[in-house]
Amino acid sequence: MSDNKRQPEVNIGLVGHVDHGKTTLVQALSGEWTDQHSEEMKRGISIRLGYADATFRRFPDRDEPECYTVEETGPDGEESEIMRTVSFVDAPGHETLMATMLSGASIMDGAVLVVSASEPVPQPQTEEHLMALDIIGIDNIVIAQNKIDLVDADRARENYDEIQEFVEGTVAEDAPVVPISAGQDVNMDVLIGAIEEEIPTPERDPDADATMHVARSFDINRPGTTWEDLTGGVIGGSLSKGELENGETIEIRPGREVEEGGQSEYQPIETEIRSLQAGGETVDRVSPGGLLGVGTGLDPSLTKGDALAGQVAGPSGTLPPTWESFEMEVDLLDRIVGQESGSVDEISTGEPLMLTVGTATTVGAVTSARGDECELKLKRPVCAAEGDKIAINRRVGARWRLIGVGTLKG
Ligand code: GDP
Ligand code: MG
Repeated sequence: MSDNKRQPEVNIGLVGHVDHGKTTLVQALSGEWTDQHSEEMKRGISIRLGYADATFRRFPDRDEPECYTVEETGPDGEESEIMRTVSFVDAPGHETLMATMLSGASIMDGAVLVVSASEPVPQPQTEEHLMALDIIGIDNIVIAQNKIDLVDADRARENYDEIQEFVEGTVAEDAPVVPISAGQDVNMDVLIGAIEEEIPTPERDPDADATMHVARSFDINRPGTTWEDLTGGVIGGSLSKGELENGETIEIRPGREVEEGGQSEYQPIETEIRSLQAGGETVDRVSPGGLLGVGTGLDPSLTKGDALAGQVAGPSGTLPPTWESFEMEVDLLDRIVGQESGSVDEISTGEPLMLTVGTATTVGAVTSARGDECELKLKRPVCAAEGDKIAINRRVGARWRLIGVGTLKG
């Protein structure tokens, strides 16, 4: 590993309304543009989770906050020291992509909520994303008041007050609000200082069994590669605990769908780790923090096109169970996010709900609902532990809206 980079040790989500500057901010801090898919480029939005690593540094002889930087050398040639490397998870802000944002939230240790100073507060996904952070239990939050270059000082102050008022009584109530311009590179030092303060690297138990949440999966072979030259399937995601080592055998759950006698069921997949990528480098071992790529011995047709996204990987025999149906305790929101009035109706038997469990998204039919508990039968099973949090979405009009949080009971 070079001196100038370290493995990322913490995952920081970038959340907020579309066009408020999440991807621009990630680029300002990491030098990387996360909207890499051609469709994303065309439409100018982040469709899938993008991610990029940034190394936060400090100039030892400067005061706070001017000491904070992502540059290796300052204008006078002075050298900065590494503080830590963080991994940014860039969530899509488009309203139809809430499921992607929710599945990304399960691998975030903290979040930067980006709010544009040039629009009234809150915009719909500003509110919806903040609610999602609350539901999933992410309370290490920094608010970036972006695009201050587009407004005058009075409007910037007004907008600042609007943000403060909006977060009152929410999980972001005590979050610092840092005025920035990601586009013009203004106040990045203050923002880095706030992230260092508010989003510490979580303590990790290196002896815990590894649990990897799979967010992406790929076939990295070029079309037409002959089978002797095929590289095995790759899964991408994040470790929430434990460590993985090259050569180790892992299990992936729920695994693959197999048809037997007209019935389909999911069977766990076992495979060997053939390569590990973290922080843009090939490594022998990975620990939590950052996004990693795991090269496996799997037939790449199994991993193609995010086919294994939402699954869980870890040492054989250590993973939580696979559920085809389960019971959950339900805590509904007071009202549907983004709507002024109208409370959230009780969940009723027979209705379909979209659930996010870890990085998995699945639709479940409610088979029984009573008060604050309900039972569901899932279209696609999920691998999860009792007590896990579940984001619950209901179809309202043309789209799924976040209506509450569930806790898996068994
Ligand atoms: P995202 O949808 O939240 O990822 O937003 P993007 O990062 O794609 O930015 C949306 C648009 O806002 C782009 O045209 C950016 O160039 C622009 N933008 C982002 N940050 C700033 C800023 O600080 N100032 C100005 N003037 N424009 C910005
Ligand atoms: Mg974006």
